[in-house]
Amino acid sequence: MDTEQLTMDRAQQLLQTFYGYPDFREGQKKIVESLLQGEDTLGIMPTGGGKSICYQIPAMLLTGLTLVVSPLISLMKDQVDALTTMGIPAAYINSSLSGKEVNVRIRAAQRGELKMLYVAPERLELDWFRDEMAELHIACVAVDEAHCVSQWGHDFRTSYLAVAPFVASLPRRPILAAFTATATPEVMDDMLRLLRLQEPAIFVTGLGRDNLAMSVLRGENKREYVMNYTSQHESQPGIIYAATRKDVDDLYDRLRASGVQAGRYHAGLPDQERADNQEAFLYDDIRVMVATNAFGMGIDKSNVRYVIHYNMPKNMEAYVQEAGRAGRDGEPSDCILLFSAQDIMTQKFLIEQNPQEGDRKRNEYRKLQQMIEYCYTHRCLRFAMLEYFGEEHDQKPCGICSSCRDERELTDMTKEAQIIFSCIYRMRERFGVTMVAGVLKGSQNKKVLQNGFDSLPTYGMMRTQTEKEISELINTFVAEGYLTLSEGQYPVVKLQPIAVDVLKGQMQVMQRAPLPVAASASSSRRRGGSTVDLGPSAVNETVFEQLRLIRRELAQSEKVP
Ligand code: ADP
Ligand code: MG
Ligand code: ZN
Repeated sequence: MDTEQLTMDRAQQLLQTFYGYPDFREGQKKIVESLLQGEDTLGIMPTGGGKSICYQIPAMLLTGLTLVVSPLISLMKDQVDALTTMGIPAAYINSSLSGKEVNVRIRAAQRGELKMLYVAPERLELDWFRDEMAELHIACVAVDEAHCVSQWGHDFRTSYLAVAPFVASLPRRPILAAFTATATPEVMDDMLRLLRLQEPAIFVTGLGRDNLAMSVLRGENKREYVMNYTSQHESQPGIIYAATRKDVDDLYDRLRASGVQAGRYHAGLPDQERADNQEAFLYDDIRVMVATNAFGMGIDKSNVRYVIHYNMPKNMEAYVQEAGRAGRDGEPSDCILLFSAQDIMTQKFLIEQNPQEGDRKRNEYRKLQQMIEYCYTHRCLRFAMLEYFGEEHDQKPCGICSSCRDERELTDMTKEAQIIFSCIYRMRERFGVTMVAGVLKGSQNKKVLQNGFDSLPTYGMMRTQTEKEISELINTFVAEGYLTLSEGQYPVVKLQPIAVDVLKGQMQVMQRAPLPVAASASSSRRRGGSTVDLGPSAVNETVFEQLRLIRRELAQSEKVP
């Protein structure tokens, strides 16, 4: 829109005139835009990424005062000094000031002479301060170092909990903006919840760093892969994350035994040993760190050339945080996720182990599901990642991720998709992947027979494939968004509206074909691009007759299942 464009032009001008910078950095522009549109905003950016400007520029453009909540007196003073030097009207209030000085500044704010007022969070707990603030027009409350609100963070500060009640006490709700460099899932959850951000726009930058080559490898012999990779990258520092202490110890022993200078890190080790190992890694005395996710918080090592995930992490936030420890110096680095279906079981087990209330648990399952989808996707992994975090991207595939480097051709899988989707539809969307695969395989499994699924026209339609291959194909369709899995321990496969389009014949399904292999028998059995032997044409007829029926039913009801 024109007015929005105008405001962003103004923002750009201010950046040049006051700060002398020609352009916004990655992420800054989106955050500024979001705040200027009046949206609650959570900005996550690495340290030094330029978070201050994200609220300072809007502060100059918004009508009213921006109250900046900042944790340290020294930080506050530095920032305000910098702003006033640039000619931007700003002030701070803290315990170093006399009551009179405080009053002078509050009056100035009330007269509209300040664009920014910096305060420590403790001040928000004071009744008199709240009353004074109610007297003026606060356009925005910007919470810096917002992770301090979370007990999971490294510097929890009780008074950050006063932010939400303070904002609620104001006669007019300001825009709420929160900034931090910490993107762990727990801290993110806490920031959203405890600061009570309302339908916030979330911007995470510094994730899709284009020096990182992302890979998801399925079906590798993980142990062999790790041994080979580390020996091929002998002189380079790297981190290998494993889900359990047992795997960490096992890999560590093997690497040591093969002569690799490896260290290890997990919560089961004595504090001293952990500290020593961490130090040795930081100073390049050891090359490979094998660790659980306990390793890495607050570690700033710039020359990590690769991060290998021996197991799929529990969600994208955790993955990005861990993988993002590679290549901080901007040099090309690898982030490799070794995925196996067993990882899904492990993560579900961990969720079940952890006693937590319903919503939280559902949320964990939802996030796990998104992580699984990432592991199955054929799309550019950088797209998938950036989209997950709502980061804008330029629609150009990265060219270096495992999807982009995949040279296999795309194959039309519409027919296979239709068979699977119609089977799910006929099973009333009440069963999990394994059961659907069983029916398609033509399994004699008791549950299949008890439900009478052996009389479905899709029964045994994919009998030339293994149940595992069929399951993988179904999971691929989940990853691609045609199907969803319900939440909980026993997820049920359901059709998404887009799958209904496929059933209606309104949409094609394309997938990667396997690379041509000399022995065609084996190639047709490969996962993903596998073609289904549809068997005798009589069966075919029945299924397509069924499809016609389904199409008709769908057209009549138009209530998408
Ligand atoms: P953070 O709070 O995210 O750690 P700061 O806001 O302190 O980062 O900014 C870090 C440095 O980057 C500062 O010196 C700042 O002036 C500079 N900076 C911020 N935005 C830009 C930009 N668009 N162009 C150039 N330098 C910038
Ligand atoms: Mg900062
Ligand atoms: Zn890519």
